[in-house]
Amino acid sequence: MSNHYLIIGAGFSGCVLAHQLTSKTDCTVDIWDERSHTGGNCHTQRDAATGVMVHEYGPHIFNTDKKEIWDFVNSFVEFRPYIHRVKAKSGDKIYSLPVNLHTINQFFNRHFTPAEAKAFLETLADNSITEPGNFEEQALKFIGKELYKAFFYGYTKKQWGCEPSALPASILKRIPVRYNYDDNYHNNIYTGIPVDGYTVVMEKMVAHPNITITLNKKYDSLADISRYNHVFYTGPIDAFFEYEFGRLGYRTVVFEKGYAAGDFQGTTQMNYCDADIPYTRITEHKHFTPWEQHDKTIYFTEYSKETTETDVPYYPKRLAADLELLKKYRAKAEKQDKVSFLGRLATYRYMDMHHVIGEALQFAAQFIIAAQNNQPAPLFPNAE
Ligand code: UDP
Repeated sequence: MSNHYLIIGAGFSGCVLAHQLTSKTDCTVDIWDERSHTGGNCHTQRDAATGVMVHEYGPHIFNTDKKEIWDFVNSFVEFRPYIHRVKAKSGDKIYSLPVNLHTINQFFNRHFTPAEAKAFLETLADNSITEPGNFEEQALKFIGKELYKAFFYGYTKKQWGCEPSALPASILKRIPVRYNYDDNYHNNIYTGIPVDGYTVVMEKMVAHPNITITLNKKYDSLADISRYNHVFYTGPIDAFFEYEFGRLGYRTVVFEKGYAAGDFQGTTQMNYCDADIPYTRITEHKHFTPWEQHDKTIYFTEYSKETTETDVPYYPKRLAADLELLKKYRAKAEKQDKVSFLGRLATYRYMDMHHVIGEALQFAAQFIIAAQNNQPAPLFPNAE
């Protein structure tokens, strides 16, 4: 007998899951999304005035170390090689980021070899910190006060709206430190940009006769889900429970759009590390697709702020109070068996695209096995 599933959210989690369920089991899937487009926060579309492919909710670069995930996304569309090279303004100078040998030599006005730079940074590092308990300690232990103040303190305070000492060390661990001239922002083996943007990747995933997408359809507790065998929810977990215990903290981003002739800043991303500049970074999207020609350019200045009720949630803050709240929502979710929770917003984690896709693939496999064996459906992909 064919199963009937409902997926709330047409981002990567929802689309990967729909693809796996329909390609591996006998089922029909309805997807609802409250927005007017597929793709969640990875949505891309061409800007009418310039023809540039714009990442509507901020820059997304696809990275992974897992061949199976790379092969999976490449089975839908062509990805072209793209290396993300970020520049950063600190004081009145422009530096190379992530911190690499060039940054160190520029910043300290030296000409260190890799070994010399490493030895030098060790003299700056705070060795009294054995086990870094937060973002600031992680920075002080590994790069020392000078580089931390120049590149991380001001930017992080603007980005997260709090002292870096209140944030988990894991946020800083996202960014490598290198003692060579490799200025690739990411460390992964596979990296690229889909030729026609990310939305097309997801549209292809759900291009199946048994999948029906309804856009502009918001889920709420009044929705009739009785006709579905199971529901997969990929929106914010606090919204699912109508904020019964309060709102989880997120930072959101406000994008200020600008146009220019030719090339505005010469690179995809320029970070502004000083606290007295109100924005965090400017991204110029035509540099994501160097194989395309555009006479005009579009760029976005990003301002970070606290999320209000009408804002799109971006970065989960995961402060201690948030994690307490999350526990309550998860406990409530675990008292039922009809709805599973999946993805960045439903699990309240800072996840990259490859994490989301990998987890959705794994979760789909787990769910399918459970269903085949008449076992209860997994409710979350992660232990938390
Ligand atoms: N960060 C910073 N200075 C920079 C870039 C990043 O302090 O120039 C910190 C900041 O706290 C940020 C974190 O490092 O939230 C992770 O940076 P990443 O570039 O991975 O953030 P994303 O692109 O996801 O916004």
